[in-house]
Amino acid sequence: MYNLDTIISLAKRRGLVFQSSEIYGGLNGCWDFGPLGVELLKNIKEEWWKAMTYREDIEGIDASILMHPRTWEASGHISQFTDPMIDNKQSKLRYRADNLIEEFIDKLRKKKKNDKADELEKKLASAKEPEDYYNLIVEYEISDPVSGSKEWTEVRHFNLMFKTFIGPVEDSSAVVYLRPESAQGIYLNFKNVMDTARQKVPFGIAQIGKAFRNEINTKNFLFRTREFEQMEMQYFVKPGTEMQWYDYWKQQRWDWYIKMGINPSSLKFKAHEKLAHYANRADDIEYFFPFGWGEIEGIHSRTDYDLSRHQEFSGKKLEYVDTVNQERFTPFVVETSGGVTRSFMAFLCDAYKEEEAPDANGKMEMRAILKFSHKLAPIKAAVFPLVNKDGMPEKAELIYKDLQKRFKVTYDTSGAIGRRYRRQDEIGTPFCITVDGQTFEDDTVTIRDRDSMVQERISSSRVTEYINEKLINC
Ligand code: ATP
Repeated sequence: MYNLDTIISLAKRRGLVFQSSEIYGGLNGCWDFGPLGVELLKNIKEEWWKAMTYREDIEGIDASILMHPRTWEASGHISQFTDPMIDNKQSKLRYRADNLIEEFIDKLRKKKKNDKADELEKKLASAKEPEDYYNLIVEYEISDPVSGSKEWTEVRHFNLMFKTFIGPVEDSSAVVYLRPESAQGIYLNFKNVMDTARQKVPFGIAQIGKAFRNEINTKNFLFRTREFEQMEMQYFVKPGTEMQWYDYWKQQRWDWYIKMGINPSSLKFKAHEKLAHYANRADDIEYFFPFGWGEIEGIHSRTDYDLSRHQEFSGKKLEYVDTVNQERFTPFVVETSGGVTRSFMAFLCDAYKEEEAPDANGKMEMRAILKFSHKLAPIKAAVFPLVNKDGMPEKAELIYKDLQKRFKVTYDTSGAIGRRYRRQDEIGTPFCITVDGQTFEDDTVTIRDRDSMVQERISSSRVTEYINEKLINC
């Protein structure tokens, strides 16, 4: 077993993820993706994009992050996109009141006080107003996990949207928000896309892009950050058919994670107990992180709420006219809303393994390995000369340059060959190609598989084709 610190330290050591603004002491809730991280991130987005838009019924867009402020009035984000916030008077620490109560419920369960935990969980599920949370904290005598103090301020609603100003004058008429989700850009472009792409209902619009939430507590590495990326798709359907599409998309999204290599026993669906007032069904896909289960994607049936609200607030018709059946309606929406950065973390945690393996002399040692699916692996192959003489580096470099025309590959000449293999295992490179003495006799090289560590000899002219076939078939 490993914990989150193992993953964070590997991510930093090998250039996957760095703390944002590290030289200034870091910026809470923000992370930077390094040379290998950006490759993994790009591969996740590319696979999602292919799965979601390389089909006749889904179009892609890339909407701007800043949108007309009325957008957020219509969507309900200005009035409702809030978290209940509480401060401890003694420690001066700030918490999300619902999280504080959830953590207390976990503690009760650990102490086997299940009846009390169930009772509080029920009360929490029906809490809505700030005073509901406050009353529970007082009633159950919940203390600050850090200071132990029970001196709390009132609970207040805190809006999670980042505010800024458009143009040079910082007055209330210039306020705009950094989008807290990418979906609204899709709703606003519903008609533009439908008309220009000549789509008919049912059809979908997909988008990948940054979103920003001023989360009260950021935690667990990339899980809850203030700047993150989403991959969302809104599927517009005829009212009354939404459940059939809901089941379809629920299955599609589950299958995608499995196809991308996630172990099925680390995934589960969790149906929402408390539905938003406009939703008629909602499930999360959860992943079992080192700190427990956490949502990586939501599948939501959102009725005609979003389009109707934008219709009302903009005064523009956002309807669909079915010319065959002579019908006119506002489509219902089934959405799949995933986090790129959260699923990055799920892919990373899921791929990480520590296992015993023989070193160059056959002695068993521990190897750390990222068993990414070949499609997601940041680097597809590494090329090595066995030794740095006898023409081996020159030949290896030729192979490396040739592979580079097609794939992200690396070249490494330093250290014993066993060490070089281990370095690649640790970042999940599926193939290592070595030029050795025999290469000059029969023009073959060894190609080593990351997971089985088995080496085969293939003609040096077939290396590109070999890797390509493996990537296509993985
Ligand atoms: P949570 O309950 O964990 O805050 P949510 O239900 O608010 O998540 P959605 O609004 O449905 O999340 O967003 C869709 C997806 O966007 C989530 O499944 C998650 O992958 C991602 N996401 C949301 N908030 C964050 C965040 N603060 N940091 C990283 N990813 C996030």
